[in-house]
Amino acid sequence: MDFTFSADQVQLRLKARAFAEREIAPMADELDAAYDYHAGGVERIKRSGLYAYVVPEAYGGKGISSVNLCILREELAKVSTFADEVFVMQGLGSNPIVRFGNEAQKRKYLPPLLDGSRMANFCLTEPAAGSDVAGIEATARREGNDYVLNGRKCYVSKPEHTDISVVFAKTRPEAGAKGISAFIVDREQSSYGVKTEKLMFEGDIGEITLRDTRVPVENLLGEEGQGMGIALGNLDIYRPTVGAAALGMGRRALSLALDHARNRRMFRQALVDFQVTRFKLAQMKVELDAASLLIYRAAWMADQSRERPTMEASIAKYFATEAAQRVVDQSLQLHGGIGIHKRSRIEHLYRAIRALRIYEGTSEIQLLVIGRELLRGGTLEHDDRL
Ligand SMILES: Cc1cc2nc3c(=O)[nH]c(=O)nc-3n(C[C@H](O)[C@H](O)[C@H](O)COP(=O)(O)OP(=O)(O)OC[C@H]3O[C@@H](n4cnc5c(N)ncnc54)[C@H](O)[C@@H]3O)c2cc1C
Repeated sequence: MDFTFSADQVQLRLKARAFAEREIAPMADELDAAYDYHAGGVERIKRSGLYAYVVPEAYGGKGISSVNLCILREELAKVSTFADEVFVMQGLGSNPIVRFGNEAQKRKYLPPLLDGSRMANFCLTEPAAGSDVAGIEATARREGNDYVLNGRKCYVSKPEHTDISVVFAKTRPEAGAKGISAFIVDREQSSYGVKTEKLMFEGDIGEITLRDTRVPVENLLGEEGQGMGIALGNLDIYRPTVGAAALGMGRRALSLALDHARNRRMFRQALVDFQVTRFKLAQMKVELDAASLLIYRAAWMADQSRERPTMEASIAKYFATEAAQRVVDQSLQLHGGIGIHKRSRIEHLYRAIRALRIYEGTSEIQLLVIGRELLRGGTLEHDDRL
């Protein structure tokens, strides 16, 4: 087995790390404290060239690789959770167009993503349907050369700053999951209501209201009824990247714990000199390295495109987000009282990590997927794909 990253992957990691440390780190505390879209961080990300990694080469990008996306999210999240979010929304929102868009749609919508002159997002969740994707209630009715969309979408990334949304709605409500279709809703063509609110880590999240929103028929993605497959396929690619973001946050929490334990003195020695402290630090390292192997296994499998790594993507997301939560908690505990001061980095990570066990499928949904996939094979087949 070969556990090494290719020379290009190593270069990408170094490039992302240099960008994050030089351009984002000096303003990371400010960015993560307010999630202010106009504070300068977004412009730096747009200029960084990193959006090339969500666009195929044929449309001016660097091609899409799951391993690369994981490397980028790990490096960005290590420095700023805001930077990670601004990067990933572009990929999550555009990947359905990359995979299911026709040539005209790709030519129109992908190149402007490269420099962030247009931003994308992904609108699946509704107030009454999150885990239960098939339960969405938004509808799309064909009327002449348009579809007319009605419904509400929530947990939408930065809707007031987004130009292109991939929106899921039912073209045949009576058909359940088979009646879901996906649409490119372009703000220059269609209008909808937008409202945002703050989450516990300061990130803002939006709701969009579609009220007789007209979308031209040429903006249907794939075919009518293909929406569920489009949504779930996106999750197979992006779930390991959520694990990678968690890994970045966990690695940052471990380095904060190491710094603090080396410098904090008590009982005439440093905190790091207690064996119990070293055990805690060692456990954190074990959890993060295990998470890393699971994440890059799932990403590598996705890049080989032999088959959709649905189970491995869920294993990676489940383990990495749960492990990173434990690591961040343990790091905060090692900081003592100073760890819960408002605006310390570990306090921010403690609030920010929580969302990763929920979005793109909760931990419970990941376990349901793993259980379902496990039962699909024969009794002994489950360890063949290590
Ligand atoms: C920060 C953030 C960003 C997000 N970004 C996006 C985005 O860009 N686009 C988008 O469309 N959505 C997004 N979401 C929405 C997210 O994907 C949903 O919140 C998530 O899928 C859970 O849905 P829900 O909130 O409706 O919870 P529910 O589905 O109501 O779940 C509530 C609880 O029930 C449990 N549960 C559900 N089903 C079962 C079951 N079968 N058995 C046992 N327990 C079960 C869940 O695990 C959870 O604990 C985001 C959410 C957050 C927090």
